[in-house]
Amino acid sequence: MMKHKKTHLVVFSVALATLLALAALVAKTGHGQSALSSKASTGQPAESGLQPTAAIRERRVAPAASTPAPDATSDGSATLFSAAASRNSALKFELDWAFGGKQQRGWYIYEPLISRLIETDRDSATGGFASALARWQKATALPSSGVLDDQTLYQMVSAWQGARLKDKTYARPDQLMVAPTSDFYDTSRPDELRQVEHETYAAYKRMIAAAVADPSLNLRHTAAGELAPEEKFLKIVSAFRPREYQEQLRRQSPNSGRAGLAVNSPHFTGRALDLYVGGEPVETKDANRAVQVQTSVYRWLVRNADRFGFRPYYYEPWHWEYVGASATAAK
Ligand SMILES: [Zn+2]
Repeated sequence: MMKHKKTHLVVFSVALATLLALAALVAKTGHGQSALSSKASTGQPAESGLQPTAAIRERRVAPAASTPAPDATSDGSATLFSAAASRNSALKFELDWAFGGKQQRGWYIYEPLISRLIETDRDSATGGFASALARWQKATALPSSGVLDDQTLYQMVSAWQGARLKDKTYARPDQLMVAPTSDFYDTSRPDELRQVEHETYAAYKRMIAAAVADPSLNLRHTAAGELAPEEKFLKIVSAFRPREYQEQLRRQSPNSGRAGLAVNSPHFTGRALDLYVGGEPVETKDANRAVQVQTSVYRWLVRNADRFGFRPYYYEPWHWEYVGASATAAK
């Protein structure tokens, strides 16, 4: 696509040059700009189980010239997968793809989830990462190129989306409890907006206790092991949403990230929690999500939330859904 653009620009510049000597220079200075890079995140795919757009409109990524043995695990794999590694370094920021009808660019925001999924702690620019990716590709019946192309990314999105809450039944009053204000990011939240499904709340508290006990997170806490009043990380931003409240959000700002909310929101179940993971609490702009996924708290959630029955909504770093302990045991 870039190549195409460049070609057009060169032709354009030459044409201009014949007419106006200076115009060619002007055209050249503007040449590096891509209309795609800044646009990706204004809107927001809703929180419902949206699948990635089936039609792949973007340029396809050609498979690596020589496909190495996908099960190569030794240090030699770093060499075998070096071509894939350099492709990945570029695609990380440049891959064009779509989600929820929105154009997306790169997969750097999802790197922690990707690493978790393909079970590697190697940097995405390494052959080791490409090797781990090739193993995962093989296991999911994809060409095991070690290149994280659009086809691979869509497969990953399907895996994440498929692991989410299936039953979106609206919570009955007896399934809900009112959590104390001290658990919330905004302590002024009224009772009706602090409702959480019972089991979800218990699992959340177990997860918080584990996070507080992990010295690497350095969370401020009380003597009883609760998050301290001044600690923001992992506090609940939003839990159960009554239908009327969801409607109100939607009316207030129909196009904002906050209220581009699904008609059938998982928040209706009382089992979805928006947790504070850094940055603007619930803002889907790429720049904000890029900040959030760098925090130690988010990275901890990616590695540990599953143990407590929580699954991510990959697109919103703050949104976690309680799928239950039984689902976790299967993993
Ligand atoms: Zn949410």
